[in-house]
Amino acid sequence: MRGLYVHVPFCDHICAYCDFTRCGYTKGLADKWLDAVEAELKQRQISDCETVYIGGGTPSCLSLSQLEGLLKLLKSYIENSTETTIEVNADSLSDDKLAVCKEYGINRISMGAQSFQSDLLKVIERKADYEMISDAIERIHRQGIHDISLDLMYGLPNQTMAQWKEDLNKAADLAITHLSLYALTIEEHSRFGRAHVQPCDPDLEADFYEEAIMFLKRKGFEHYEISNFAKNAHYARHNLIYWHYEDFYGIGCGASGKLNHIRYDNTRNLHTYLTEGANAKEFRLTKQEEMFEAVMMGLRLKEGIAKQRFYEHFHEDIHTVYETAITKHVRLGNLKESAQSLKTTYQGMLILHDILVDFL
Ligand code: SF4
Repeated sequence: MRGLYVHVPFCDHICAYCDFTRCGYTKGLADKWLDAVEAELKQRQISDCETVYIGGGTPSCLSLSQLEGLLKLLKSYIENSTETTIEVNADSLSDDKLAVCKEYGINRISMGAQSFQSDLLKVIERKADYEMISDAIERIHRQGIHDISLDLMYGLPNQTMAQWKEDLNKAADLAITHLSLYALTIEEHSRFGRAHVQPCDPDLEADFYEEAIMFLKRKGFEHYEISNFAKNAHYARHNLIYWHYEDFYGIGCGASGKLNHIRYDNTRNLHTYLTEGANAKEFRLTKQEEMFEAVMMGLRLKEGIAKQRFYEHFHEDIHTVYETAITKHVRLGNLKESAQSLKTTYQGMLILHDILVDFL
């Protein structure tokens, strides 16, 4: 089982915290980018895709005809997938773009909200407010797409607990099936990084996170992955491919993939991508690296790591490979081990980074 990720590197405007591979949208560049994507898709032999994920950047900032052009290129993969997600921002999601998404088989929408507080939206330089987002969600449902995920951020500059509670409340009352929560990180090359904005106090950040976990549980969201919450088992199937450490293709400027023990990173430079193609750098992963990455991804999930799956993947018993680390963290109450699985406890989930150090 594999996933296909397509990276759309354009945005209408650049958020203050962002250092993803993205640039301001222009029609001419996006036309050339589409040609380059077509060439890359032809060059990579893509097969067996269970999921398609069109991320970015902001895919919804493409013009209607460019969006349709992209979906035409991906048509055969979308038709064979069980889940096709597109990332959108409410301010560029028109009804005609939504209709095209529906027509080409997109069945899941992931929308960036980040905050519903007008003062915080100004600070992070995002346009879509609560009204625009709730209106977009209604319009998505009207088009017949009912799997909708929303992104929220915590630890924003001067964000208060009262504001965070209000955001969670509003999000949980929207007609969505999935929520992703991200702590703000100050990236060196973002506007925040250049302005030396200070990161949130770690204790306050932990309080935001724990408040969200408790609140969303009361609202019927299952905390199935460290940063992700789903209603009625509407898990992000594409992301489950990453968390289960399956292979995936990455297409587009700034995309990465992993196939048959080789990770590849396409160029992040749009000019290079348009003139020379993906120009991917490839790295062969050692078994040791792969086993560690599989642990790092698998322990993010509530279900944990299925020992049998680990064995089938690596022909090694996970307990034998990591006996010292597992024994230590089971004793400390951070991990729980059974005959079938290895998973983090609630306490362990809060300190996963520290636990992983012992698996290195
Ligand atoms: S956060 Fe998303 S929408 Fe904002 S600039 Fe980055 S990629 Fe674009």
